[in-house]
Amino acid sequence: MKRILSSQAEKYLDQTIKVEGWICSKRSHGKLVFIDLRDMEGLIQVVFNPSESKAYEIAKKVKPEWVVEIKGRVSKRPEGMENPKIASGNIELRAEEIKIYSEAKTLPFAIDTDGYEISEEKRLRYRYIDLRRQRMKRNLEIRQRVIYFMRKFLIERGFVEVETPILTKSTPEGARDFLVPSRLHPGKFYALPQSPQQYKQLLMISGIEKYFQIARALRDEDPRADRQVEHTQLDIEMAFTSQEEILNLIETLYIALVKEIFPEKKILQIPFPRITYKEAITKYKTDKPDIRENKEDDQELAFAFITDFPMFEWHEKEKRWGAMHHPFTKPQTEDIEKIKKYPEKILAHQYDFVLNGYEIGGGSIRTTNLDVLLAVFEVLGHKKEEIKKNFAHYFEAFSFGVPPHGGIAAGIERFLAITLNEPSIREVIAFPKTGDGRDLMMNIPSEVTKKQLKELHIRIESKNK
Ligand code: ASP
Repeated sequence: MKRILSSQAEKYLDQTIKVEGWICSKRSHGKLVFIDLRDMEGLIQVVFNPSESKAYEIAKKVKPEWVVEIKGRVSKRPEGMENPKIASGNIELRAEEIKIYSEAKTLPFAIDTDGYEISEEKRLRYRYIDLRRQRMKRNLEIRQRVIYFMRKFLIERGFVEVETPILTKSTPEGARDFLVPSRLHPGKFYALPQSPQQYKQLLMISGIEKYFQIARALRDEDPRADRQVEHTQLDIEMAFTSQEEILNLIETLYIALVKEIFPEKKILQIPFPRITYKEAITKYKTDKPDIRENKEDDQELAFAFITDFPMFEWHEKEKRWGAMHHPFTKPQTEDIEKIKKYPEKILAHQYDFVLNGYEIGGGSIRTTNLDVLLAVFEVLGHKKEEIKKNFAHYFEAFSFGVPPHGGIAAGIERFLAITLNEPSIREVIAFPKTGDGRDLMMNIPSEVTKKQLKELHIRIESKNK
């Protein structure tokens, strides 16, 4: 017999169907036993009558979260007993048979609440149970709808989604790399991508003029409460483009997306305001201004683009210049002497995408003049020879015909946390890590065996040494 989902059951009125799922709750009324069964689509009420004695005896025994199969007849609920809150609320199932697939221990916490009242450590430790919660299911579903919308929108406009490697080479994007030791090549390492930055630029040289990817970016950053060591971003690159074209594309995409998936939200200003970095700092004292008038109103979305960032920023602690975005960003001048002499004066073709006071994306037009790129790297403190060695592939690629190009990356999680009014990005990630990069469920990072270390040519120095 085919399984019927709770939401579809009403279509089978007066027929016998099979449902499968988890026991959500159980109660007795006189001689009858009522069970609410939960499947991926919702709940269905099942009634056990002593006249079906075998099923009835089992029903008396089952407990919440046991997984069962039930066969029964779909019947209209008695008048006045309908439940308009659930899809199957007009009917109930009169049980004829019940089979137990698996029993379940008492859950570590309740799943019929929104869960904010439970300690997050506990929720993360038992994340697979936490995800049974209605709110978490909704978040994952909306996450998928957002990503699906982005894919569809871009594919319809001629973009090609290309997967780029996870095992790659260290690229200076401003964070520390996660390194992966090579077993086959002793002493050598891969780096996990801080973003697909180099690959997407190389794809422009390949003639994939419109690239996108729902990409994972991995950054070994210092602990911070609402930060993840891995996050997902909508990564875009275009050839023969301009800043205006990229910003317009993003604007059109997000307006359409909000209209379709978050129709209850109001976008504060269309077109999204374009504010220069200087203006933002002067007027709002931040480069991610929250331009909402009423910041309590969680139905309002205030998007903005911040443009014309400085190319470099001074790292006082390390006494060196860093790139405000990344070294591949095009400075607003090609005057190499000026770049090297007055780095503090150089602006970049760089833009950030901001929503309600959070940076939700950023990108730039890229340098295609290699002399300029070299000058930028020199300001950042790299030696010419070292750059030419580390980026040999990049410099070589640029000698084979490079189109002007630029792109952007927009974070998926922060956008979702804001639109879903969630307090943290962890609420929109199925299996998040803590702010200091631990997975409390899998208990990672974890130690590995001596044999594994040996194969990788790695020796751990004891901490006390
Ligand atoms: N790679 C950049 C980032 O991940 C985005 C870009 O410049 O396109 O922030």
